[in-house]
Amino acid sequence: MNPPVSIRPLKLRLAVETLNRSNLKRRPDASKTFFSSPTPIHNMEDHIEYSRNTLMDFIKLKPKDIEICDVTLRDGEQAAGIAFTEQEKIDIAWKLDDVGVEIIEAGFPVVSKEELETIRKITKLGLNARICCLARAKKSDVDAALDANVDIVSIFIATSDIHLRYKHHMTIDEATDCAIDVLDYAKDHGLCVRFAAEDATRTDMNVLKRVYQIAEAHRADYLSIADTVGILDPSTTYFMIKEIKKATNTPLCIHCHNDLGMATANTIVAAETGATQLHATVNGIGERVGNTPLEELLVGLLVQYGIDKYDLSHLLTLSKMVEKYSGVKVAKTKPIVGENAFCHESGIHIAAMLENTSTYEVFSPELVGGGRNYILGKHTGRKALKFVTERLGYELDQEQLSTLLDRIKVCSEAKHGVSCDRLARMINEME
Ligand SMILES: [Zn+2]
Repeated sequence: MNPPVSIRPLKLRLAVETLNRSNLKRRPDASKTFFSSPTPIHNMEDHIEYSRNTLMDFIKLKPKDIEICDVTLRDGEQAAGIAFTEQEKIDIAWKLDDVGVEIIEAGFPVVSKEELETIRKITKLGLNARICCLARAKKSDVDAALDANVDIVSIFIATSDIHLRYKHHMTIDEATDCAIDVLDYAKDHGLCVRFAAEDATRTDMNVLKRVYQIAEAHRADYLSIADTVGILDPSTTYFMIKEIKKATNTPLCIHCHNDLGMATANTIVAAETGATQLHATVNGIGERVGNTPLEELLVGLLVQYGIDKYDLSHLLTLSKMVEKYSGVKVAKTKPIVGENAFCHESGIHIAAMLENTSTYEVFSPELVGGGRNYILGKHTGRKALKFVTERLGYELDQEQLSTLLDRIKVCSEAKHGVSCDRLARMINEME
């Protein structure tokens, strides 16, 4: 049985918000931050980085030999309204490499000459990650991949009846022949090939198995299951991976979309069941409502299985970079990287967290390069207020604290947040 918590040294990041304190009477040693981690409560060595899900000890399935293929630069960019510049793509690729993802899908080179050129530049950056690009089942797309000098080409063709009838206007045999012809062409030119069945999750299982077996016989290096419309749930993901694994021996990839809000769960279950290449995008951006968010997947793999081969301390910076470059705002309530992920207002919660932050956090913000916020509002308690005012350099007696708390609650009920400057003004007004 593993211990319930993992203890690792942390790189603490303070100074989430800096005060203008020119009008404050402060002790000389007062903290420079107001919204910050309560570091004086713990020694750094004692800081708990994350709580392990000990129920996992009863779960027999474990992911093995997983690798991450980040598709932010391709699927992410395909989302409505997103277009990265070349430099933005290069910045994101560097940051993904800092995190340590094994594969970066850098784009779809036949889209434009500029796209091809950007992918080529990314292949020359000298990243540790292997670079992949997308190709339709056309030899000209493989030629573009060869031009771009990628390590892996992902050749995709739809296999579901609805896509065959309304998009390809082909039978499944015609589509398979076409894809296999191009797969052979790519292999003959020395490429590592991922064969991807688009809309695999709405394809007849026997048909899908047969198509994958043919691709395997034609030297595909990976078989990719694309849940193109996000219809899977964890149970059907489990069933599907089991079935495909019974029929094939080639490494399986899972590519989930989040239309039903289950992409992360499905990807984790696929990994448990034997898929080894897991696809994700930063902040979950991608077609429609997006893909499996990279940050959720990596933190999930750590907390559930202790997989710690990625440097998660870059995740918040990466998230903010992609938020800025994509123009897609991250929701406050977004797991891992949302503004509220480490925000606490309830007096009961803050009081417990001042003793031990793991009481209300499954992992510490420092793990992903973030900081903790304590917000003052109608749910704030006296103990939390005392802590915050002391950090600001004030020593208030019980009566002053009660008066201040009443004023904070009035502001909060009028939907006015109490910022640090405002709190300082409130204290000064009381004196
Ligand atoms: Zn996709």
